[in-house]
Amino acid sequence: MGRSEELFERAVKVIPGGVNSPVRAFRSVGGTPRFITSAQGAYITDEDGNTYLDYIGSWGPMILGHNQKEVREKVAEACMDGLSFGAPTEREVIMAELICGMVPGMEMVRMVNSGTEAVMSALRAARGYTGRNKIVKFAGCYHGHSDSILIKAGSGVMEGGVPDSSGVTRGCTEDTLSAVYNDLTSVQAVFDQYPDQVAAVIVEPVAANMGVVPPAKGFLEGLRKLCTKYGALLIFDEVITGFRLAAGGAQEYFGIQADLVTYGKIIGGGMPVGAYGGRREIMSVVSPLGPVYQAGTLSGNPIAMAAGIAQLQILKENPDIYRKLNEMGTCLFSSIDRILKESGASCTINYEGSLGSIFFTPDPVVNYETAQKADTAQFGRYFHYMLDNHVHLGPSQFEAMFVSAAHTKEDIERTLELIRTYFR
Ligand SMILES: *Cc1c(COP(=O)(O)O)cnc(C)c1O
Repeated sequence: MGRSEELFERAVKVIPGGVNSPVRAFRSVGGTPRFITSAQGAYITDEDGNTYLDYIGSWGPMILGHNQKEVREKVAEACMDGLSFGAPTEREVIMAELICGMVPGMEMVRMVNSGTEAVMSALRAARGYTGRNKIVKFAGCYHGHSDSILIKAGSGVMEGGVPDSSGVTRGCTEDTLSAVYNDLTSVQAVFDQYPDQVAAVIVEPVAANMGVVPPAKGFLEGLRKLCTKYGALLIFDEVITGFRLAAGGAQEYFGIQADLVTYGKIIGGGMPVGAYGGRREIMSVVSPLGPVYQAGTLSGNPIAMAAGIAQLQILKENPDIYRKLNEMGTCLFSSIDRILKESGASCTINYEGSLGSIFFTPDPVVNYETAQKADTAQFGRYFHYMLDNHVHLGPSQFEAMFVSAAHTKEDIERTLELIRTYFR
């Protein structure tokens, strides 16, 4: 038995499912998660000394690659001055100035500790600002695990959302309505039903939590128009896309202005950080300036800010990174597309920039319903083939591959060679 198996045996006795976040479990693919000891660049090493080419990148944060030298050094430096003060610091100001300087339309931002917290707080701010109750989300989009957005897919355009998790009350979700990704008609239907009750429409501008599903042409523009027409706020959940598609995230990449934006993952450079922000007028409802309460003992933590600032500064000062990342992504994913077509495999691939997913279904995947047609057993076999060949993918059909700036042409070539062999 390997070290990972040994550790997993211990872990399941004291941690639910042996993991601190369910996406790390191997339940849908079988086997035991690899326990990691260290990571460098595009590679991670497990407890048994196996090294893998990593396409998880900590689920997005490690856009510069693992253990990036400047980020690590800034964190180490910050640690020498103390871990937390519970009073304002210069780093928080620098961080906020950086974000407002990089993101179109961003005038004020509040730091929190996770993407979940960012979304939960942004929804509260949207309700406080508009004085309305209802939230529209899209089936298959993930916005963290706060109560009000854990609704069953497809439920509730007319009657309000049904909880998708035990422990969430009907009361928590009854103001959350579900629409269909890439389907403006379904959004119009909600506004027809509740023309003056929708506080916000929240969307992943590129959906990446049902596998990668890019927005159809006109979808995000249409949402912008509908929100403006009905006086609802448009919230871009850029926890994955923020600082990844472009320095200014999906707003810059697609040229669309949201009213509020949520961040996580990349913004912390590997530390637990989230943020939400937008126009001054909207963010002014947040306490202590306004009546919407939101707080955090460790929010804006100096060590977390040191990591985030270092990573964002590198991204800001090297716009070339985005050109390279998106080129590398396009090279990898379009080559996979060609391999799949040539081999006649019953698969389809979706991608945008440095994010992509192979779906084990021959049909186009444009929303949650079509994503659900994918054959997860077939994905499991592919996943284990890649893992056996030292490529670390997300252990689920419904996750993205994350390309980082540390991935090289050789890494991409090796990945393609394996995929070519698998589908031959
Ligand atoms: C990961 C994710 C979240 C939740 O962030 P956590 O830091 O895990 O709480 C929210 N929205 C999107 C789009 C995400 O991918």
